[in-house]
Formats: sequence, structure tokens, C-alpha cells
Amino acid sequence: MRAAVYRGPNDLRIETVPVPRPGPDDLLVKVSVCGVCPTDIKKIHYGTVPPPRIFGHETAGTIVRIGKRVHNLRVGDRVALHHHVPCLDCHACRHRAFAQCATYKRTGITAGFEPAGGGFAEFVRVLPFVQPGVVKIPAENSFEEGAMLEPVNTVLKAVKRLTLLPGDSVLVAGQGPIGLMFTRLLQLLGMRVLASDLLEKRLKLAKRFGAEWTFNPTQQPGEKKPSNPKSSPSLGTSSAAKRQLDAAVLAVPSDAALHQALSQVRGGAQILLFAHTKRGALTELDLASVCVDEKDLIGSYSADFTLQREVARLVFSRKMDVRPLITHRFTLEQTAQAVALAANPTPDSLKILVGGSHH
Ligand SMILES: [Zn+2]
Ligand SMILES: [Zn+2]
Repeated sequence: MRAAVYRGPNDLRIETVPVPRPGPDDLLVKVSVCGVCPTDIKKIHYGTVPPPRIFGHETAGTIVRIGKRVHNLRVGDRVALHHHVPCLDCHACRHRAFAQCATYKRTGITAGFEPAGGGFAEFVRVLPFVQPGVVKIPAENSFEEGAMLEPVNTVLKAVKRLTLLPGDSVLVAGQGPIGLMFTRLLQLLGMRVLASDLLEKRLKLAKRFGAEWTFNPTQQPGEKKPSNPKSSPSLGTSSAAKRQLDAAVLAVPSDAALHQALSQVRGGAQILLFAHTKRGALTELDLASVCVDEKDLIGSYSADFTLQREVARLVFSRKMDVRPLITHRFTLEQTAQAVALAANPTPDSLKILVGGSHH
């Protein structure tokens, strides 16, 4: 089969590799589509893990072979996969810190080499410990929608870390695919969302995804009227009708956005870091804003297995309609191009998918 093999920093090569051989407890899935995720891009660019590996973990496809000891699934099932599943039993899991569970950290889907997701290949082998994460895709939904379950799960998990009351105002900084998912999920939960981005096009989309107000943080106060001037929360300009922000979500790894959020949220609010994934990134903070103003700085990483049904319901019912988020589709042979575009997004690009081979 064909696969995009990671051979070193920024070196993805299309190679012919053996189709994985499923054991009696495994599944073999023919990949239809796999999302390009920032965490994979980082590994590919910075070479943070040793090669060779086949990345891609937002995978959907069809079961084509099934081990004789697997009973709850069938050949022909259209499925979405999760490459990490927690044990639900260890100390970390009892604290619901699933992303810190040792079992969870193991990758259970592979197209060959050290398991790394494998979605950038024609077939993947699904090991038994991640099979509880297999979700069937309803007939009326696409593989593409199935491939979006994992990122939506990470966003819903993060949203659940916020202690909000209905009607609260929440800033979502960054309206890329992840930021737009935050905007929509928060709006579905009854929050009033203030969305920010540097791109006008994304701000328009944020409105469609349920943002009540939008703004471009690079524009000087007064340069552009807030889109809902009567009740604009905290654009720093109109002191009238100032609503305070009850929480802020940073879906961009921007320190400027962090400092702006810290100054804008009310005392006792939460600020959630979702995109600051680079080790060693430092910033200065007035620690009294945490201690005295009780502004809590929290983070969220990866998915929560126990939310999977809720996530599937939201996506497959299209309450969280992911289809407008998918802007680019590349063939497997074009995986390097897909990764390059995802790493350097254009005003038109949001979620980028890889799938299908030329032959
Ligand atoms: Zn991902
Ligand atoms: Zn565990």
C-alpha cells in the first residue's frame, strides 16, 4: 500500500509499505479520510519524535478485516477511530485526567513502524486497547464528518473545564477550525461568545457559528464599530454597557492574546489555554491577577473518552455542523502539501483533510 512516511524533520515521503497484518484481536480499516492536526504538524516540523513513523490520527474509514476474537464490529462498518483510549482505572483516570494516563499515552493505531496514528496511509491496524474508541458513522453522515469527531471531542472536553452559567460571556481568541468549534459549542450551551481573529473572513464565519460579537484585535479602538454596539463586551473602547468576560479561551498560541484576555476577564474568571503546546514557551505574568483577582489559568489537552457519545451526537446531528470547516482535500500522495498548507494557513483555509490514493 501507499503511505506518507515521516523520515525526519520536514521530510514526508510517499512510499510503498506492507499492508498491516491484523492479529486475532485487531481490526484492519481501509482509510477514507484523515484530518491534518496541528500536533502532527509540530512533530513533523520539529522532528520531536524519532523516524520512521506514519502519522495521521483523525481517521475514518471502512472495516475490511476483523480478528476472530473481535465481536462487536463487522466487516463493512463505516467507522471513526480514536488512537488514544484511557484505561479508566488508574490514578490519573480516577481524577479524570485521561490525557495523563499511561495507557492513554500509548498510540493504538498503526500503518507500520512505531504506532503513530497511521491515517496518512491506505490501511491501518486498530489494536484492541483502542477499540472501545471505535464509533460507527451513521449512513446519512460522511467519512469526513467521522474524521472530525476527535478534534470536536478535544474542544468539548475543554469547554467542560469551564465553570460557566447560562448567559455568560466568553472570549474565544482565534477563529481557525478549533476556535470556530469553541464558538459553536459555547453558543449551544447558552453562552454569549465574543470571537476574535485577524482575518475578516474568519470573523464572518464566527458569526455563522454563533458568535454574538466579533472583533479584530489589531484594529485600533474606534477604527471599526463593534458588530453589536449596544452590548459590546470589553472591546476596550465604549465604557458604556460594558459586559465583563466570564472566561476566555485561547485557540491561538499568542502571548499578546493571553495578556489581553487576562486584563479583560472579570475577577474569578477562567482563562483556558488550548494552543500553547510548545515546551519552553515562557511569558511574564502579574501573579496577583491569579492570587488576588482569582483569575484562574487552566489548560486542556487531547480528548475525553467519556464524552464520545455526546460528541458523536453533536456532530452527526449537525448541531455542531463540521462541514463548513473543511476547506481543503488532498490525496494521500499530496500529504506533504496538505501539511504545508495546514502549517501556513491562508485566509481561505480551515480544516484540511487527506484521503484517497491515485491508484
Ligand atoms: Zn488531532
Ligand atoms: Zn488510566
